[in-house]
This record gives sequence, C-alpha cells and structure tokens, in this order.
Amino acid sequence: MKNIAVIGSGTMGNGIAHTFAQFGFSVNLIDVSEAALERGIQTISKNLDRQVTKGSLTEAQKNETLSNINSYTDLQKGVQNADLVVEAATENIDLKLKIFRDLDQLCKPETILASNTSSISITKIASVTKRPNQVIGMHFMNPVPVMKLVEVIRGYATSDAVTASIMDLAQKLHKIPVEVNDYPGFVANRILMPMINEAIYTLYEGVAGVHEIDTVMKLGMAHPMGPLQLADFIGLDVCLAILEVLHQGFGNPKYAPCPLLVNMVTAGEKGVKSGSGFYTYTPGSKDLVVAPKFA
Ligand code: NAD
Repeated sequence: MKNIAVIGSGTMGNGIAHTFAQFGFSVNLIDVSEAALERGIQTISKNLDRQVTKGSLTEAQKNETLSNINSYTDLQKGVQNADLVVEAATENIDLKLKIFRDLDQLCKPETILASNTSSISITKIASVTKRPNQVIGMHFMNPVPVMKLVEVIRGYATSDAVTASIMDLAQKLHKIPVEVNDYPGFVANRILMPMINEAIYTLYEGVAGVHEIDTVMKLGMAHPMGPLQLADFIGLDVCLAILEVLHQGFGNPKYAPCPLLVNMVTAGEKGVKSGSGFYTYTPGSKDLVVAPKFA
C-alpha cells in the first residue's frame, strides 16, 4: 500500500493524514469543505512544527511530510488511485453509508475501505458495498500523531487477509494495533463513554462541579485528563452520537445520554472545536477555565 485517501479533514482526519504522510505514504486529504481542508493543513503544519521543536523530526522531514499531502474537495479525484481509504467524516450513519456506497463505485476493485468511526457498525457500513470482505474499522485515537493505539475492528465479513494487512500497516505507522470484533462501541468507547456520561450525570445532579469532578478523576485515578475535559476534547457531539449508538445497539437504558449533554449539543456547545463546552477555550491560551454556565 502506497496511496492513501483520507476522507474528512477535521480533528481526526488531519491527524491520520499527518501520520501516514510522516511515514512516507502519499496522502490525498478530502473534505466537502475547502475551509476545513485549509484548517486541516494548518493544523498539520503547526503539529509538525511542534515535533521539530521537540527534536523528534527534522525540518527536512517536516517539509517532506507536507509535500506527501494533497487536498481535494472532489471525492472521485481524491480516491481513484487509493490503495486504502480511511474515512474520518462526521459521525453520522446516513452520511457514512452514502460515502461507502460512493467509494465502492469510485475506487479500484482491490482498494481496502476503512472507517475511523468511533461506534457505527462496520458490518452495517460494509453491507452497502459489494466488497464487504474488504471493509474494516481502523480506529485511531486523538491526537493521532501521538497516541499509540489503533483499534482494528473486524466486521462480520472482513477477511483474514485484509485484517492482517491493516494490522501490519498500523505497525508501519509505529502504532500498536489491537484486533477486536464488531459490537456497539467496540472496546474503547464501550468502556469510555459510560464513564464520561456518568461524569455528566454527576454534574447534572449537582453532586459536584466541573473542576471538582475532573480533579477527583485526575488525582484519584491517575487519569491524565478529567472525563469532562476529555469529553470537550473528543467533541460533545461525537460523545452524544456514540452514546446513542450504544443505547440503540444494546437497548439498555444504562447507556441513555444525559439530558445535559443533549441540551449542550443542541445549543451548539461542542467542546474545544466550538470554543465552549464544560470549559471555555480561547485560542492561544492553555488555561483551563470552567464555562460561565458551570462556574
Ligand atoms: P470533525 O467534526 O472534527 O470532522 C469531520 C469532518 O468531516 C469535517 O471537516 C467535515 O467537513 C467532514 N465531512 C463531512 N461530510 C463529509 C463528506 N461527505 N465528505 C468528506 N468530508 C466530510 O469530526 P472528528 O472528531 O474528526 O471525527 C471524525 C470521525 O472520527 C468520526 O467518525 C468520529 O466518530 C471518529 N473519531 C473521533 C475521535 C475524536 O476524539 N474526535 C476519536 C476517534 C474516532
């Protein structure tokens, strides 16, 4: 595999493009929004600068990485030569099914189609293509260039050969792949999201404030980030979408998203990416300031 197409230039897509490009792959980064592509390339450039400052990359390697990435708003042009497509568009099932239907038509017959979905069934996504054995989950963690894990999700029809080649590819990116089966939330989010949801319920019921809840989990459980800060970092809309998949998929009320989370997302509070969630984010500032609503 040499040519990689990454669909979606948001939080995850630009990190995935960065990582493949850094390890010498030719990457086509595709988004419906020109502005998202520009933001994505800017973020990659900023993150590469940080790697250069830390001494983990040379200036020449940074320039080579950037030169390995081309951006496209046209899906057909972006995927026609791809050996592998990694889809990292918005977490919405109808959107993903449409993208995979289109990919199946536009890509070479041998192209492997991967999704970075946090929770949507790989088996379901694969079912809208004529190549379900070549569809797989490649779930990177945020921030992609830093986090070691890739959860590799085998759909019901994913072949052994495709699974083996994606496990191998993840290692070429200096990641550690873990193979899991396709059930709601897979492993990572089935365990993480109920904890985040419970933290939001704890706030909603007035048991403690934002700062207090996060401090208990940071100092008490040695988590590097409290669950509310982590929810802001992941994106509150993404957390809500995953909880809805768990709730529907298992039919168990224990996964019902907290009404406070639903209200926040409905009001456009998405966490870091919208500038406000449980905390308020000011560009250029690293201070963690509790949002006025919860102060
Ligand atoms: P995001 O909202 O930051 O970015 C999504 C991007 O997809 C946007 O730039 C949007 O313009 C683009 N997009 C929408 N429709 C498109 C289409 N038809 N074609 C091309 N691009 C399109 O979202 P994100 O946080 O990067 O999440 C992307 C995927 O990664 C989701 O499936 C999410 O569940 C998963 N994921 C997210 C995280 C996280 O921490 N945010 C972690 C692991 C996996």
